[in-house]
Amino acid sequence: MTTITSVAEMQQWSLQHKSAGRRIAFVPTMGFLHEGHLSLLEAGRKNGDLLVLSIFVNPTQFGVGEDYADYPRDLAADGALAAQAGVDVIFVPSAAQMYPKDYATWVDVEGITEVLCGASRPGHFRGVTTVVSKLCNIVQPDIAFFGAKDFQQLAVIRRMVLDQNMPLEIVGMPIVREADGLALSSRNSYLSPEQRQQGLALSQSLALGRQLAAAGQRDSAIILAAVRAMIEVNPEARIDYLQICHQLSLQDQTQVDADSVLLLAVFLGKTRLIDNCFLLTE
Ligand code: AMP
Repeated sequence: MTTITSVAEMQQWSLQHKSAGRRIAFVPTMGFLHEGHLSLLEAGRKNGDLLVLSIFVNPTQFGVGEDYADYPRDLAADGALAAQAGVDVIFVPSAAQMYPKDYATWVDVEGITEVLCGASRPGHFRGVTTVVSKLCNIVQPDIAFFGAKDFQQLAVIRRMVLDQNMPLEIVGMPIVREADGLALSSRNSYLSPEQRQQGLALSQSLALGRQLAAAGQRDSAIILAAVRAMIEVNPEARIDYLQICHQLSLQDQTQVDADSVLLLAVFLGKTRLIDNCFLLTE
């Protein structure tokens, strides 16, 4: 496994292997790797001749007052996990290389970025699409893997790749959870033991939503009220959003159908966690 920090070197490496006919699989991350990231790497290993992992805490997707400076980082541990996962190259560019002085170009997907996390975090998706587009220009993957934990991000990336005619396949991977249901996230490391306990309400309330739908409930308002009540009994939990949306348009649905996704973002103290599930399918 090689670590590459230079954009030019990464691009050169990819060009060389692509012209030799090799298929490059790519997993972009912000590091502090956990089993969720490892599931993407495992899929990447199976679907490419070469596997590239990027670790870049992208400043442009964090808003003012968000956790860019505090975001957990542990390159040594990430390196060991990546080696075990069969990664060929870890690409770790600096922010100065990715956004040099006078940097002025942004990729902005309209519409579906304006709801849910996009409404709560203005500019977030512009940062995400810009960096993913740049990383793809550098790594030149044939296939890239993203987690459904960031459901809206996956939809936005798919839209960008389609709209920009980017020559790669995007694969969405299922959410990996702790044994008790909490979706794995690098940000779980911020939680106090009490917040960690109260955080179980996220996955449990999604399960309640699915149960209600499975029992025939189709009225979104009724499902959302039950889910809300289950989260709000936890004193440290504050709902940022809680919505039932169509999986592609991400528009609110008043009636549940096979395309319905229940999405939530909840603060536990200062830590904002997201989770989602389909209500009827999957
Ligand atoms: P991040 O490092 O948080 O930016 O995440 C990098 C990639 O890992 C994204 O595609 C995420 O959706 C994915 N990911 C993060 N957490 C999970 C999880 N619990 N299960 C599956 N994929 C995940």
